[in-house]
Amino acid sequence: EASLQKEGQTPELKDGKGFKGHDMLAPFTAGWQSNDLHPLVIEKSEGCYVYDINGNKFLDSLAGLWCTALGGNEPRLVAAATKQLDTLPFYHSFWNRTTKPSLDLAKDILEIFTARKMGKVFFTNSGSEANDTQVKLVWYYNNALGRPNKKKFIARAKSYHGSTLISASLSGLPALHQKFDLPAPFVLHTDCPHYWRFHLPGETEEEFSTRLAKNLENLILKEGPETIAAFIAEPVMGAGGVIPPPATYFEKVQAVVKKYDILFIADEVICAFGRLGTMFGCDKYNITPDLVSVAKALSSAYMPIGAVLVSPEISEVIHSQSNKLGSFSHGFTYSGHPVSCAVAVEALKLYKEKNIAEYVKSVSPKFQNGLKAFSDSPIIGEIRGTGLILGTEFTDNKSPNDLFPPEWGIGAYFGAQCEKRGMLVRVAGDNIMMSPPLIITPEEIDELISIYGDALRATEERVKELKSQ
Ligand code: PMP
Repeated sequence: EASLQKEGQTPELKDGKGFKGHDMLAPFTAGWQSNDLHPLVIEKSEGCYVYDINGNKFLDSLAGLWCTALGGNEPRLVAAATKQLDTLPFYHSFWNRTTKPSLDLAKDILEIFTARKMGKVFFTNSGSEANDTQVKLVWYYNNALGRPNKKKFIARAKSYHGSTLISASLSGLPALHQKFDLPAPFVLHTDCPHYWRFHLPGETEEEFSTRLAKNLENLILKEGPETIAAFIAEPVMGAGGVIPPPATYFEKVQAVVKKYDILFIADEVICAFGRLGTMFGCDKYNITPDLVSVAKALSSAYMPIGAVLVSPEISEVIHSQSNKLGSFSHGFTYSGHPVSCAVAVEALKLYKEKNIAEYVKSVSPKFQNGLKAFSDSPIIGEIRGTGLILGTEFTDNKSPNDLFPPEWGIGAYFGAQCEKRGMLVRVAGDNIMMSPPLIITPEEIDELISIYGDALRATEERVKELKSQ
């Protein structure tokens, strides 16, 4: 795999130097990568493109990490940050002190979220912190209601909810647990709703959803409903491989959790603010959540910020409990950071002005159909997606079970071929993920599809070669 991935890496700087063996313990990076390879060092961004320090230009098909929704150099976000930095670079939100941008942003978020009426907003710095906060809010709530045993969380296999202790525990990806003594014991995982990979022979999508909802119910009954506090789900699973829900899935699991008085948490960290062609994933799938996590596109990633939307029922209980205890003792120095909030207020304004969800809806057929047209490639098992998010899974014989030998590094090879042709994609094993900036133009979508097609042809050749050896 090392040699295959090497192909796509920036070889060295133009002056012959580089950053091989650099000083960062780099996130989600293997030791051999930072020690033996030159990192790809990104220096500048412009719209949907990023440039490395050698001046190479790449179409950023993942919008950073699914987050730079408004692209690379939106002057109004820069102006909002600069203005706030000039006026008040920092003040906190503890002890009923706060800043105007954070008050404005909370109000704007509640206004924009219409899947149901939400009550309050809690600010964090990231999606991981938002999901950790969810657990604390739910525990605090159940303690206040005098049900201290209702504390377990159910998440799903292949979900991604972050990488702090608790959000990594909620995540259903083994790599996040291995060697970290995770998941925490109060977290249970139920089925991944991936129809293509997990349906039984002859089972329709609806039947598959019914079976998964039944399995969820059985898990709840086995554990005891009085011990299960909440269910957390991404509307479309992101880092687990871009997995949109099968037909009727959310309708059915919502009915189950409601039946046992279990809270529904929507992790909208990737889906929120237009990605799926609706303002939120909850709008698209008729989800009525009790709690919602957002981050990423909230500020179009120009400043770190996340938020938890809390239902009126839960926020009222939290308020009255904190009246008894003196305060709600949870928060971060940077909860509601004024610069992050000022940028996010402007980002939400831009989404509104650009009618961003409608825009995504209008360009997504080109993106989805253009890429799904490659589905009959002999090395592609499935291409799946909706709106401006798409996953490709390489397998042999169109079968979810005929995986290519991992040492062939097919996903990595495809990623390197894209990089060589001027496009960055996300590679996870033989899964490829894309979620370009929401402002991507039809012409840029054409370019993305054309690079994908050329990289795919090269990868098909590579597989032929490997098979013949
Ligand atoms: N939830 C989801 C659905 C995510 O995709 C991510 C990040 N990719 C997170 C939570 C964690 O967010 P962060 O990296 O900002 O902590």
